[in-house]
Amino acid sequence: MNLGTPTLIGIPYDAQTSYMRGPGEAPGKIRAALACDASNSWTELGVDLGQAGIYEDAGDLKFSEAQAFAAIESGIVKLIDEGKRPVSLGGDHSITYPIVKAFARKYSDLTIFHFDAHPDLYDEFEGNRRSHACPFARIMESGLAKRLVQVGIRTINRHQREQAARFGVEVVEMNALPAYDRLRAAGPVYVTFDMDVLDPAFAPGISHREPGGMSVREAIAHLHAISGEIVGADLVEFNPVRDVDGMTAAVAAKILKELLGKMISGSGKV
Ligand code: MN
Ligand code: MN
Repeated sequence: MNLGTPTLIGIPYDAQTSYMRGPGEAPGKIRAALACDASNSWTELGVDLGQAGIYEDAGDLKFSEAQAFAAIESGIVKLIDEGKRPVSLGGDHSITYPIVKAFARKYSDLTIFHFDAHPDLYDEFEGNRRSHACPFARIMESGLAKRLVQVGIRTINRHQREQAARFGVEVVEMNALPAYDRLRAAGPVYVTFDMDVLDPAFAPGISHREPGGMSVREAIAHLHAISGEIVGADLVEFNPVRDVDGMTAAVAAKILKELLGKMISGSGKV
């Protein structure tokens, strides 16, 4: 089944970070690393991303900070209405709330597979309900997803454990990996990938370095293990300001490449 062409959309927004800005500069850096001649265009699943039209790039969304959430939601709605599968390049993780709001207009039974060191389930963080520490509380309390499966978590505290129980979130902590069998879904799947799920040894270009995370290989193996129809995705929290010699940009591009390959091969459009 052809689910629509995966379409990149840059969301240069980092106003909801709690610690340091920078992820707003990520989209261009990820695109540049994806196009870098150091590698070829083939994914590990045998998809050649160099084929014309196999994926598209809608450029960056433009908006004022005050209008950000409304602009993100309507930008994603527009792509979905055009029959595309939006793949958003963040940006801090707060953007996933307006993005999923857009998806929920079309899909009433969304499963979200969430890769992150952090559950991002705070009811509010430092008085801010739109913080990048809160998007999944907003998504679940609004009933925007049928299931939320979090993978790679290693910072959960009492409040967030209570939030997870309240919303029925399936939390797969880092110390329970590998957990390929937890990534099976019936119905539409949305993948949200926070770069800090990776160990900072592999991806230092992030704001919140949390050691003990996934290797790049573990992350790819879990992405490839997803079963279900991936209707959209995002890649967030790459912070170029903290990167070392472009290492994290290369890792973000690799994750994006394998995610696109998975979306394309999984929909029979190779
Ligand atoms: Mn996050
Ligand atoms: Mn995180």
